[in-house]
Amino acid sequence: MPAPGGAIQDEPNRIILGEHHYIDLMPESDSGPNAGQVVGGVVYHRAPWNESGWCGGSVFWAAGEHRVTWELHSRDPLHIEPSVRCTHDQDSGLVHGWIRGGRWEPIAPYHHLLEAHA
Ligand SMILES: [Zn+2]
Repeated sequence: MPAPGGAIQDEPNRIILGEHHYIDLMPESDSGPNAGQVVGGVVYHRAPWNESGWCGGSVFWAAGEHRVTWELHSRDPLHIEPSVRCTHDQDSGLVHGWIRGGRWEPIAPYHHLLEAHA
């Protein structure tokens, strides 16, 4: 994860989605049915109320050792359906958006939360 408050660095397997979000793509382990394929990722959003400065959760769109909940519409630019909502305590329901066209499209903008913790 980037430093709290810091810029999001470009990394292999990372897509910077904008709106304080990025996703680190996850290849399936070598033993699963989709060995080596990208089957999902961890979506992170800026969360100054956490020590790390970030909050994240997994999304999966192909089978592996996990439940598939999203549908991959496009790998590049990344587009998954349905929307993604963070359910962690501090921001439950407030961090909600679409990943379409390789961008985070907020449904529930949370800039007011960021400002409250600035
Ligand atoms: Zn969160």
